[in-house]
Amino acid sequence: MSYPIHIVWFRQDLRLADNPALTAACKAGAVLPAYILDDINAGAWKMGGASRFWLLHSLKALNASLDGKMVFLAGDASKLLPNLAKDVKASGVYWNRCYEPWHISRDARIKQSLKEDGIEAHSFNGSLLWEPWDVLKEDGTPYRVFTPFYRKGCLSKAAPRAPLPAPDDLRLLSYNGMSLSDLNLLPQKPEPRWDKKMEAHWQIGEKGAIKALHDFLDNGLKDYKEGRDYMAGSNVSRLSSRLHFGEVSPNQVWHAARHKGESEGWSKDLDHFCSELGWREFSHSLLYHFPDLPEKNLQSRFDAFPWDRNHEALERWKRGQTGYPVVDAAMRELWETGYMHNRARMIVGSFLVKHLLIHWRHGEDWFWDCLCDADLANNAASWQWIAGCGADAAPYFRIFNPVTQGEKFDPDGNYVRRFIPELKEMPNQYLHKPWEASPLILKAAGVELGKTYPLPVVDHAAARERALAAFSKTKG
Ligand SMILES: Cc1cc2nc3c(=O)[nH]c(=O)nc-3n(C[C@H](O)[C@H](O)[C@H](O)COP(=O)(O)OP(=O)(O)OC[C@H]3O[C@@H](n4cnc5c(N)ncnc54)[C@H](O)[C@@H]3O)c2cc1C
Repeated sequence: MSYPIHIVWFRQDLRLADNPALTAACKAGAVLPAYILDDINAGAWKMGGASRFWLLHSLKALNASLDGKMVFLAGDASKLLPNLAKDVKASGVYWNRCYEPWHISRDARIKQSLKEDGIEAHSFNGSLLWEPWDVLKEDGTPYRVFTPFYRKGCLSKAAPRAPLPAPDDLRLLSYNGMSLSDLNLLPQKPEPRWDKKMEAHWQIGEKGAIKALHDFLDNGLKDYKEGRDYMAGSNVSRLSSRLHFGEVSPNQVWHAARHKGESEGWSKDLDHFCSELGWREFSHSLLYHFPDLPEKNLQSRFDAFPWDRNHEALERWKRGQTGYPVVDAAMRELWETGYMHNRARMIVGSFLVKHLLIHWRHGEDWFWDCLCDADLANNAASWQWIAGCGADAAPYFRIFNPVTQGEKFDPDGNYVRRFIPELKEMPNQYLHKPWEASPLILKAAGVELGKTYPLPVVDHAAARERALAAFSKTKG
């Protein structure tokens, strides 16, 4: 080999453009790209099924862009990576940082072990706009409220770094390792494979991500501020899985959105969209500073909350069989596509913790398994926000009414009809509350409540009273 060898360890940065680790390694010498599926260090937070589906396709796309040279390994990265580096006599290993607590502790061990072997380790920021340790209050403590975090902590700093181009001098090396299929990311059974139906909804990989970004900027950014709440609308970007797996960086999204929004004069929509990227930063900051966030109530006065252990209700929620059409449509959207609209996430989250009084961790776990964008920081922070036990949380008395939410944010019923075909013929007036329709109307729509579509699992008014009574005891 005539060039020094540098391993680029891909993780949640599955792209060539704006990849600071890849750019730096290319400048230093020839590159051996590697991916390690490390379920061992991830422990309880190893990827769920939908994430594995996304990862498989995203790695396939990235490997194709790397001329099939990616080295695939599975197991404990703290052993595999130093061994690979020694084996190929690498002079350096490059990666972009991840912020999950298990990543941080494992990566620190790897850095130490490479150092002991005389191999340089270089890490970069490739997935956040601002480092969590740079955004602190004046007294040096982390923010717990979003608006000051974003306005005072983030926006007062220098603008996020401009994106880097994809390297044009990529000298790739080969190594005999496992193939992508050896990672067994998807179970071969049961048939028919659930992942097949999800494939139809996405063009996974860096090219698909850039296309999705531009589709959104051209067709969704205008009116984002109001339109983002309509569940059947096209005013959301659906970039969350791409951002989680790093097919596109937040810097690329931020700068492309600013360019488009400023040149078109869409300032309120642009600012709102950027503030949602800010929520992503906030969640990551919370996870970084409060590493127990995925497991423990951020506000400990919730620790004694009398959660209900209603297994049957939980199963009905998961399967989209609660009898509340907007809740069921959302849960079926998740099952069908691996994605759920943000408004719908808030409705089903509130329904689980408030109407059913089921612990937010059950919701967090189900989302972890079913969302293609399952992200430890965003998922945990959002579930705690919904339950009221997190940072800057929704007040305990905010209980979404699934009927009025449906009527307001799915006024034509397109969202419900898309995911609940058995209610397709219901007139709009009753679509979100079929139990109020007369027997004649139900018959004309071909709906038999309790048979073709379930009766409500709980009565809204009674559930609301029960939740208010339980949650009022947690008042701080
Ligand atoms: C109960 C619950 C669980 C959630 N779990 C996840 C999760 O596991 N992974 C995840 O990425 N998001 C999660 N979210 C946040 C949010 O719902 C999704 O990020 C958003 O719906 C993704 O769709 P989009 O890309 O079309 O969003 P857009 O509206 O187009 O927003 C652009 C980007 O901003 C970020 N963003 C938007 N809203 C939020 C938010 N509230 N919090 C943090 N980041 C945000 C996302 O990266 C998103 O891709 C959760 C929300 C709730 C209420």
